[in-house]
Amino acid sequence: MIKAVRGTRDLLPPETALWNFVEAAVRDVFRAYNFHEVRTPIFESTELFSRSVGEETDIVSKEMYTWEDRSRAESERGQSLTLRPENTAGVVRAYIEHKLWDRGLNKLYYIGPQFRRERPQKGRYRQFYQIGAEVIGPPSAGSESPARDAEVLELLATLLDRLGIKNWNLELNSVGCPNDRAVYNEALRKALEPVVGQMDADCQRRAVTNPLRVFDCKVPADQPIIDKLPRISEYLDEPCRQHFQQVQEILNAVGVRFSLSDRLVRGLDYYTRTAFEFTHGALGAQNAILGGGRYDGLSESLGGPPAPGIGFAIGEDRLVLALKESAEAVQRKPDVYIAPLGAGMDREAARLAREMRRHDVVVELGDESFRLKKSLETASKIGARFALIVGENEVKSASFALKNLETGEQVSVPRAELAQKIQSSH
Ligand code: AMP
Repeated sequence: MIKAVRGTRDLLPPETALWNFVEAAVRDVFRAYNFHEVRTPIFESTELFSRSVGEETDIVSKEMYTWEDRSRAESERGQSLTLRPENTAGVVRAYIEHKLWDRGLNKLYYIGPQFRRERPQKGRYRQFYQIGAEVIGPPSAGSESPARDAEVLELLATLLDRLGIKNWNLELNSVGCPNDRAVYNEALRKALEPVVGQMDADCQRRAVTNPLRVFDCKVPADQPIIDKLPRISEYLDEPCRQHFQQVQEILNAVGVRFSLSDRLVRGLDYYTRTAFEFTHGALGAQNAILGGGRYDGLSESLGGPPAPGIGFAIGEDRLVLALKESAEAVQRKPDVYIAPLGAGMDREAARLAREMRRHDVVVELGDESFRLKKSLETASKIGARFALIVGENEVKSASFALKNLETGEQVSVPRAELAQKIQSSH
């Protein structure tokens, strides 16, 4: 038997109803904040990710699905392509490619699959889904303003509340601006020098390649060492500190609660200033529902003009896991099961179904080869509210037997009133 590949999974009904419920709510919220959808390709040139996400990150060094494309000529090497492990790089590439700065401030969102070759476990998959957004534009369009950071964070709070997700926690930090980052990195390197030898091999490697990422080391034995390292909050230069202060003031003004967490650094290289994560208690080890932050230097590192930006990516798989709604509850059951009774009645049933579906009635259509008993059993099994019996007499009189499957009551309803009668009985 051929099975789904490890780390991938099929989403089946009724669970897909929950995914649709989430996505519909998300689209509504994005609309209210004037965000518009962007769809970028699922694969891109490998270089895009190695340059934007960063060569030393786990994503680029270990987790990407990369292959060499077939070349046109035998002598040529094929282009190196990669399934997208995240979507910010693709959006910023599109921003540069289509000169989106002409539009001023861009507020873009996406929903789609991402691919990382991580060790699969609950809440962690190799094909997973992200809902994300990016606010990006030229500095003259206000893309650097702390008001944008606060707006994005407030949007996220609204979205989680709207979905009924309780007990989320917003952890906020500033990872500094290019100037103070350099000074801080130096201080970190110095502080690490005498202790790095006691740390686990992975942390040691990070200490050399990208010391900030030492804060992402999860090995318990290394935590006391990490706790004593200098913190970025003490190194922010004045403009950077003020920016962070203003973000917090707006959040306080709109009543979004947060906690400061100066160990939060984010794994990706292009982040500057505001960095954040929303966590949720019920998710266990993989408790981050979403993460994001500012990436003011990313466009330039990809050869584009200065285009400060802030964005986030929600793990949709984890968002669905955190929902208290059950899939059964959000799945819309059929309003009516149409039961054709006897030869030639499939035709009549199809006509009736077409009429009712035009009025937004959810219809399941039976089969004239079924006996009435089997039709009624099927109707109950799929959870239809009504069964509509379509026999020769009913067609002739243009009046149909409508059985309420919850109460057992049966009435005769003229054809023209059927849709209305079914709709009005919710
Ligand atoms: P990142 O792009 O690493 O900042 O991740 C953003 C969010 O995507 C995380 O907070 C998770 O909710 C989700 N996520 C990342 N990797 C995975 C994965 N392998 N499986 C499921 N969700 C993931």
